Amino acid sequence: MGTRNTRWAALAAAGILALSACGSDGDAGGDLTGEPGGGATGGAPGFAEGTTMARLADAGAITVGTKFDQPLFGLQGPDGTPVGFDVEIAKIIADELGIPEDGITWVETVSANREPFIQDGRVDIVVATYTINDARKEVVDFAGPYYEAGQSLMVRADDDSINGPDDIAGKTVCSVDGSTPAGNIQENFPDTELVTFAAYTDCLDPLRNGQVDAVTTDNVILGGYVAESPNDFRIAGEPFTEEPYGVGLRKGDDEFRTFINDVLEASFTDGRWTAAWESTAGEVLDTPEPPTIDRY
Ligand code: GLU
Repeated sequence: MGTRNTRWAALAAAGILALSACGSDGDAGGDLTGEPGGGATGGAPGFAEGTTMARLADAGAITVGTKFDQPLFGLQGPDGTPVGFDVEIAKIIADELGIPEDGITWVETVSANREPFIQDGRVDIVVATYTINDARKEVVDFAGPYYEAGQSLMVRADDDSINGPDDIAGKTVCSVDGSTPAGNIQENFPDTELVTFAAYTDCLDPLRNGQVDAVTTDNVILGGYVAESPNDFRIAGEPFTEEPYGVGLRKGDDEFRTFINDVLEASFTDGRWTAAWESTAGEVLDTPEPPTIDRY
């Protein structure tokens, strides 16, 4: 409890709590066994032959790419399996395919290898704070969104010189290869020096040491690092982009995309999405309203 209260206080002070849509706590506890689309839990789902759903359901196995170093969304736990909101979203999808948790193989994806891992078939889906955008849609498809984040900045707790994107000219900012926040800095902040690594945790010591002035990525990822180290870091200002999180899948697999969209949409109203949030990111962030699925 002490830890949690400390985190709440730190995040409230950092303005993180105001970053997510206002809390709703009324619809948890609904029917947790909802069966959208043609899915089924526990039995042999009746998926049409030749579909990805039938292949995965028959195998009783799915390979999921997720982050391993992002608290609240995807963080490798003590037993090696990841925990977080993205992980719970993947479990909801697997469950609708009749795949138990021990049928899920978790593969670490960093920001830059998500598209190639999907294209190469190394993973069946990616659930990894993965922003839906047109450039990525050239090579993969997305179900969702299942959450809407926004790019933000994290600075040392004792640094009051940066309070938003207007303050980063002449500063050095750390982010991750292949991420939308790094791309945004590169394209739209010519007076800011960008340093990139493979994963966001690689930016934390450089920020602590003063080698960089800020870390930039989505508000909720940074919120996880602030919650872990409230004495070291704070969020600087409001989010300044829109980052709708999707489930990445092989391009052109429209049946699988529709299936995942159906599963997500059902989970938004039957209590599973809210329960997934509250048991993970909801430990430190307000519960948002679910977004609207984009069946493009
Ligand atoms: N949502 C952004 C992206 O997909 C940043 C977070 C991340 O790198 O996973 O690039």
